[in-house]
Amino acid sequence: MTGLLRLAPAAHRVATSATLEINERVLALRAEGRDVIHLGFGEASFPLPPALRDALAKSATATAYGPVLGILPLRQAIADYLVRERALSATADRIAVGPGSKPLLYALVQLLDGDVLVPAPSWVSYAPQVKLAGRHVIPVPTDERDHHRVTPAALQGAADRAIASGANPRILIINSPSNPTGGMFAEGDVAAMAEWARGRGVTIVSDEIYAELAHGIVPHVSAARFYPEGTIVTAGLSKSFSAGGWRLGYAALPSGEGGARLLSALRALASEIWSSAAMPIQEAATSAFLPNAEMSSYVTRCARLHGHTAGRLFEAMVRLGIDCPRPAGGFYVYPDFAPFRAKLAHRGVRTSLELARYLLETHQIATLPGVAFGDEPEALRLRLAVSGLYDPSENVRWDLLARTDSFTAPDPARAPSLPLPELDRAAEALANVVSSL
Ligand code: PLP
Repeated sequence: MTGLLRLAPAAHRVATSATLEINERVLALRAEGRDVIHLGFGEASFPLPPALRDALAKSATATAYGPVLGILPLRQAIADYLVRERALSATADRIAVGPGSKPLLYALVQLLDGDVLVPAPSWVSYAPQVKLAGRHVIPVPTDERDHHRVTPAALQGAADRAIASGANPRILIINSPSNPTGGMFAEGDVAAMAEWARGRGVTIVSDEIYAELAHGIVPHVSAARFYPEGTIVTAGLSKSFSAGGWRLGYAALPSGEGGARLLSALRALASEIWSSAAMPIQEAATSAFLPNAEMSSYVTRCARLHGHTAGRLFEAMVRLGIDCPRPAGGFYVYPDFAPFRAKLAHRGVRTSLELARYLLETHQIATLPGVAFGDEPEALRLRLAVSGLYDPSENVRWDLLARTDSFTAPDPARAPSLPLPELDRAAEALANVVSSL
């Protein structure tokens, strides 16, 4: 064997995810003419606010490379936005802009010292990123019956076990609202996590990419409110402005010496990898963060519509006898088919991966298995995304968004029912699954 194209050890630390397998299978089934209900697709898919579209048309000629950490008007607008909307004490000189929050999260894990506490379940990319950076993933167990809360006791237990096995827990990644559970941390829980982290010198990376999409049941509270000196907040345009393909994310770092050192390391790393986020996108994105009635009405409508659809799917699930925590933000529902474990076992289904395959092959319902999010393989939990359940027509989507103006109850699932035929079809297909077992 020659040394040609031999892979480095880091390349063996990540495997192609189960999410890709399911997605490819959906495409293949659709190509065969099968009518798949796609609950596996987690992408904010509402039309772009017209002001952003117009701003991008104007900035098309910004062809020069930009400053590594982002253009100042955008960094300033983001800092002011975080002060205004999240009551944080952010300043422009601690904001780093990058091509999405995902590479910023990876860069932060690369640059911060130590191993990483990651709640189980949590977003698919945290664990692979930690492994790619050559660190240990330290899972923090959560309990579905307790809405997947992250408690100081669970954190301490995970940290103790990790230290006993030679690891060095120094970073905690949290995500509220959560992908995959749709859950949100209550203020008291955020305060308790922050206190735990401060007491042990653990840095919190708070992934707040879904913060604006809180459904209005639980207020979003950032860990940076309680632990500003040790919390880094990441977010971006992908979810609240339905613009994942724009690839615009940011990280807000703590003030003081430590924040300055980390920012300078981040600038160095970014300068060697992505140089800067795309300039036309940065210029256009600035208007998303400036005080603007059109933008805030757009984001409120999106949050309500995501909340309405997720809430209705949750209620359908509960009616069918499927265990499910009530979603409070984002566009995901995380049901547990445990009540049907014995019946599913008769069909050879004993793990979440087998369940996801079974639903796809037998009932044409695409979902993602909980195991892809670091959940126990035998837990029969699935992540269902409701963002693919809207009519493809832009006009229909605008109309649905506008109709959320009539919502008065804080819980959008309780609002007058909007016409969502694909959601009804999904609920009916799930009812067929249950009755066929
Ligand atoms: N964090 C979570 C929890 C996500 O679900 C996603 C996108 O799926 C991201 C981060 C990445 O967002 P971005 O588009 O800013 O890279």
